[in-house]
Amino acid sequence: MNEEVDKDKAVKKMSELLRSGAVMLDQTCPLCGLPLFKLRSGEVVCSIHGPVRVVKSESEAIEATTSAVLNEAEKLISMKLYSALKRLSENEDVDEYELKRVVYLLDILERVRRIKKT
Ligand SMILES: [Zn+2]
Repeated sequence: MNEEVDKDKAVKKMSELLRSGAVMLDQTCPLCGLPLFKLRSGEVVCSIHGPVRVVKSESEAIEATTSAVLNEAEKLISMKLYSALKRLSENEDVDEYELKRVVYLLDILERVRRIKKT
């Protein structure tokens, strides 16, 4: 467990889930290790993290991790790109280095998006 979990809150939410007719599963949340619940709608939820994608196999687990990492990378690069562009727009003179950085970041972003599509 690599995350602080509010146990009281979790227990309260779990009893709420059970009262609403949810069923406790023998699977646990990949994020906090608490048991997962299946709602009447069929959706699987964690009492802390809400809807959880249940991973069935090792390859699916790897795929889920990869896609999470790629999403994170895309977000991070977009943020870097934004601040680089902002710096460019704030300066009167075009900063060669900053311009190269923008191109470089765009290149990475394109690659990440390409990998995501495959
Ligand atoms: Zn959880």
